[in-house]
Amino acid sequence: MMQITLLGTGSPIPDPMRAGPSTLVRGADTNLLVDCGRAVLMRLAAAGVLPPMLHAVLVTHLHSDHLTDLNDVITTHWVMNPQPSTLPLFGPPGLRDVVDATLGALAPDIRYRIAHHDDLTRPPTVEVTEVAPGGRFRVGHAEVRVAGTDHRPVEPTVAFRVEGDGHSVVLGGDGVPCGGLDELCRGADAYVQTVIRDDLVRQVPNARFQDIVDYHSTVEDAARTAARAGVRTLVLTHYVPPMAPDQADDWRAFAAAHFSGEIVLGDDLTTIRP
Ligand SMILES: [Zn+2]
Ligand SMILES: [Zn+2]
Repeated sequence: MMQITLLGTGSPIPDPMRAGPSTLVRGADTNLLVDCGRAVLMRLAAAGVLPPMLHAVLVTHLHSDHLTDLNDVITTHWVMNPQPSTLPLFGPPGLRDVVDATLGALAPDIRYRIAHHDDLTRPPTVEVTEVAPGGRFRVGHAEVRVAGTDHRPVEPTVAFRVEGDGHSVVLGGDGVPCGGLDELCRGADAYVQTVIRDDLVRQVPNARFQDIVDYHSTVEDAARTAARAGVRTLVLTHYVPPMAPDQADDWRAFAAAHFSGEIVLGDDLTTIRP
């Protein structure tokens, strides 16, 4: 059985109710964390998963909102594990440098803890695999396929398709529709896409905020991708601007105009069983 939990449905905009972008994909014996935005470990704990229970971290791209709590994931995976355990990380080229720099920033903490705990003798170990479009890898019972996405000028960026237990889910990350994403989504049970509402963004009189419009999927874009690819369930997350509690039907209607399948929107910890 596969299960998707939207750990964080927020964006770079601080929100008291929404953690940063992060999604948990659970299959039989396999827990995959996709991106690790603000407060990811609080939401993971609420979903009943502690860092040592993660089998891998998948990173769609190196924008800070998707990575800001990677340091917390690495540290807590390390200190909570009774035995030395390697944390596998998969993401686009550049991830290794980011992880190395993160470990560099953690150096004093690592030193303190090793000096203080007799049974903690080794620093955290991570295994970074930089992935490319068309790549495949396996984590436990899950088979993962990689496609390139279009989030330019941010590059490289990737999406993942996780398959296992007879189910499939695509994590689209940030970006506008593109052929690689269409192909990855083809026939998937669920497609999770980060979205913006460009009609609402355009009403905000802030030039820097307007820059986000040209490199994110709108709700309609995501719905059209889902329809073209024949996915069963469209899952929307990373709501920009933040989706107010009474706006869900409004957002859903924008998607439903282009996609006739199931559409899921919600708060942090919304869980879907595709
Ligand atoms: Zn981004
Ligand atoms: Zn983002």
